[in-house]
Amino acid sequence: MAKLGRELRTKGFDVIDLSLGEPDFDTPDHIKEAAITAIRDNWSHYTPVSGFLDLREAVCTKLLRDNQLVYEPGNIIVSTGAKQSLANAVLALVDEDDEVIIPTPFWVTYSELVKIARGKVVHIPSYTHTGFKITPEQVESAISKKTKLFLFSSPCNPSGAVYTKEELAGLATVFEKHPDIFILSDEIYEYINFTGDHFSLAQFPKIKDRVVVVNGLSKGFAMTGWRLGYTAAHAEVAKACEKIQGQFTSGANSITQRAALTALTSDLRPTKEMRNEFARRKERVIELVKNIPGLICNEPDGAFYVFPDVSAYFGKKDGDDIIKNAGDLSMFLLNKAHVSSVMGDAFGDPSCIRFSFANSMDKIEEGWRRISEALSSLK
Ligand code: PLP
Repeated sequence: MAKLGRELRTKGFDVIDLSLGEPDFDTPDHIKEAAITAIRDNWSHYTPVSGFLDLREAVCTKLLRDNQLVYEPGNIIVSTGAKQSLANAVLALVDEDDEVIIPTPFWVTYSELVKIARGKVVHIPSYTHTGFKITPEQVESAISKKTKLFLFSSPCNPSGAVYTKEELAGLATVFEKHPDIFILSDEIYEYINFTGDHFSLAQFPKIKDRVVVVNGLSKGFAMTGWRLGYTAAHAEVAKACEKIQGQFTSGANSITQRAALTALTSDLRPTKEMRNEFARRKERVIELVKNIPGLICNEPDGAFYVFPDVSAYFGKKDGDDIIKNAGDLSMFLLNKAHVSSVMGDAFGDPSCIRFSFANSMDKIEEGWRRISEALSSLK
């Protein structure tokens, strides 16, 4: 969709990008300065595979400060983005034919990583009317003798669902009964959370050793291009991740790691300001979506997307063309309204479309005005 949007743009069309999966903010200045200093100070050599020791210590301090989680540097592996952290963990834990439970909707990389590891994906559906959250009962009934891993994100991309402490406690109780199952908890959107509280399954002591926490700097510090993620896990799992990473990429970029040290140890004010701006946009987007007949939309508690159910438009016609699914509707919005989005199929939910609000308020207003106009033209 991004590629088609770019093509339209090169033809001179004014395409509004609501498909964006990254903050439209610049990296805070103090983090950039740290990187410039690192270049001047010749941080130009290979780095330890697991990351610089002082950065891993800073990750431990962050996990204690923000999440009340106690880890040591031996539990931490720094990687080239949270995506690599996830890949390391899946490759370390999943063997051929192992089952991996993934609630839908999910970030597309999850199922692809499981396929690379030759595992089998078992989906648990979640719906608009359940706030896109799954229940302990659903998890229990998806578990089989072959289940190796449960993989999810909170806050969730694409739904914006954020699990409460009580909801996680319910899931933790299920995992307590199944001591062979690991949990891969993707917390990359931790700081883009509108509820004020972020909770992790790692906070439940009885299962903590089996929880692999993945986080990174991409979203919370507007550092997507810098590529810095990290894993906090039992030392044995961390070692396995380190071995895998050592053969794929070695240690993460030296300059990025020095900048990350500053990001994690300094004032979070820029992150909070960015979060507040996302919260303001979310309020407005929800108002705009509610005014469009047929769209059923949850209010996201985190991340920077809305994920409305658009199925009321399936079967409608644009001239002679019938809108059969979310892919057709997303394409129609690109061609007719010049607004790009991402069809829900990519996230395992073909009734929905993901629209980002990582764009300026002006673009958001204009984008949704165009969407509304285009949808009302369907017969
Ligand atoms: N996890 C989720 C849910 C994401 O949406 C993304 C990026 O879009 C990532 C992980 C990857 O983050 P990184 O840029 O650190 O690799």
